[in-house]
Amino acid sequence: MKAPPFRYARPETVAEAVRLLAEHPGARILAGGQSLVATLQMRLSAPVLVIDINRIPGLDSIRRAGDRLLIGALVRHAQTAGSALVAEHCPLVAAAMPHVAHAAIRNRGTTCGSLANADPAAEMPACAVALDALLEISGPGGARSVPARSFYSGLFETDLAEDELLTGVSLPVAAPGERFVFDEIARRHGDFPEVGLAARRRAEGGRTVALDLVIFGPEPCPRPSAAAREIALHRPFDAACIAEITAAVTAEMEPMAHAAVRRLQAGALLRRCLPRLADGPPDHLKNENHQQGIP
Ligand code: FAD
Repeated sequence: MKAPPFRYARPETVAEAVRLLAEHPGARILAGGQSLVATLQMRLSAPVLVIDINRIPGLDSIRRAGDRLLIGALVRHAQTAGSALVAEHCPLVAAAMPHVAHAAIRNRGTTCGSLANADPAAEMPACAVALDALLEISGPGGARSVPARSFYSGLFETDLAEDELLTGVSLPVAAPGERFVFDEIARRHGDFPEVGLAARRRAEGGRTVALDLVIFGPEPCPRPSAAAREIALHRPFDAACIAEITAAVTAEMEPMAHAAVRRLQAGALLRRCLPRLADGPPDHLKNENHQQGIP
């Protein structure tokens, strides 16, 4: 199948891209094209105008600003995956990256495109929610920052208005002693997962002071588990605590389909991964995929 006819624009500034979006309701941004072009070819989308942002300068870098890491809208997944800054300061994202599609798609697809696309099974939105990231957005009224936890509202639904551009994502730099775990169950490596897990834990004196846990894939959009947080708070992260969290998280899940299987998969993932958040040498903070090369 061929894409329906559309007009094409290649703005050179964020302001110009925003103006084009405002002037052409139904226009779509083209970043890496790894999701958009497929939907065009399958005629699942028919925008009046495709706005290619690839020539806008200043959006293709990863930089540290104080206690935040900023990933621009044109940073490819491969650039995020190979970044020493991300490996050091954002180990959850580094651990998730090898699971994002395949090398060819990571070479072109952008980390922010994945955040904007809001696929429920995509790894980056889940990481952004677990880390309480801020999405940096530009629109006709200026710039605004939106917490990832309020950005996602449903299946492929976000807070991004039709005339707004996601210019980047701001992630918190990992604090000393914070622990992270990412893993997923997918039919084949590189496929979208059936169930995934992204989590962060902070402890003081052996007791949990913060737990941000996201099970993603089965539900329309990623959300942090309130039950997991409440169970873990002020307790040691031991086998009893992990068993309680596993039971509560699988019970509170509301899968869109195959509920019994998805609960079983989530339970297996939680039992396998949560012990890595317990106290002990923080080996998991080393990004092994980064060091060994991504498949
Ligand atoms: P595009 O395709 O250019 O855009 C996607 C959508 O987001 C469009 O609606 C576009 O208008 C919008 N958009 C993009 N950037 C912006 C922006 N800056 N501001 C506003 N709107 C914007 N992803 C995963 O996470 N996990 C996987 O396992 C996975 N597997 C894949 C397997 C295959 C075979 C393919 C083709 C893709 C897969 N993907 C997967 C998707 C891939 O990660 C895409 O790169 C990503 O979803 C979109 O990024 P993009 O830059 O290509 O965006």
